[in-house]
Amino acid sequence: MIRGSTELVAIVGSPIAQVKSPENFNTWFANNARDLAMLPIDLQEAALGAFVDNLRGWRNLRGCVVTVPYKQALASRLDGLSERAQALGSVNVIRREGDGRLVGDNVDGAGFLGATRQHGFVATGKRALIVGCGGVGSAIAYALGEAGIASITLSDPSSERVGVLGEVLGNAFPKLEIASLFGSLDAFDLVVNASPVGMGHSGELPVPATLLETLKAATLVADVVTSPEITPLLQKARERGCPIQTGAQMAFAQLGHLGAFMGVTPLEICSHER
Ligand code: NAD
Repeated sequence: MIRGSTELVAIVGSPIAQVKSPENFNTWFANNARDLAMLPIDLQEAALGAFVDNLRGWRNLRGCVVTVPYKQALASRLDGLSERAQALGSVNVIRREGDGRLVGDNVDGAGFLGATRQHGFVATGKRALIVGCGGVGSAIAYALGEAGIASITLSDPSSERVGVLGEVLGNAFPKLEIASLFGSLDAFDLVVNASPVGMGHSGELPVPATLLETLKAATLVADVVTSPEITPLLQKARERGCPIQTGAQMAFAQLGHLGAFMGVTPLEICSHER
């Protein structure tokens, strides 16, 4: 029930009907007797400037989750950014401070890492392959760098994106080994699909099927795609005996990070509390 006293958070993007955050947060708020609610906002790009001004003046709004396509455009309009949001040039969450200042962070990578920990994965000293160097791939790579991974190999059809991300990682983590060539998967402890390949009913694989034959059974294989839950990549990895991490597990692990940054949930949200 939204009352006069209810404090709000929002999620902004376009389109917005497909997002799961409103039902996840509103269920958590209701189950935990919080006088809070999340609103979905499908925003026109032309209204971005006015939207940011409104957020500054919106006194019963605690914060806003940001999704595609506004993660980059909003980062450049806020009053402060975390170090990682600044390095990545993108935000997926905004907190409204009491004085109206808007501060942004990007917790896509923290959510991903939280999910890997539930699979017993420890990044320190390990080797990862990241397929897809866009917004999410960059956030995941940065979080792995922060967690002390030894080596990251980047793959994307856009060599420009590989170059930009390699530079961001090189500046932030001087000891990190960064590569972009690989002929086999057997050296990797973690393989991540951070591209949209495999979404829907396409049946597509983000790496050639022949290369998947070189996966070793100890490698954690993760996908960011949420629909289908078991993507063609995860299906193949499972057949090879690898542990797998779904896009839904990453999204769920992110909830606490988003909520904690806005100050409306604890960092850890357990599935039984939803
Ligand atoms: P983006 O457009 O910023 O980046 C996608 C990247 O994938 C691009 O650099 C593109 O060149 C690359 N790519 C396309 N085809 C490729 C291929 N065959 N091999 C390698 N790279 C390829 O998009 P984004 O914001 O990074 O989102 C990527 C995916 O992540 C989307 O499907 C989105 O729905 C999903 N996502 C999941 C979560 C989650 O919590 N599970 C969170 C955010 C986004």
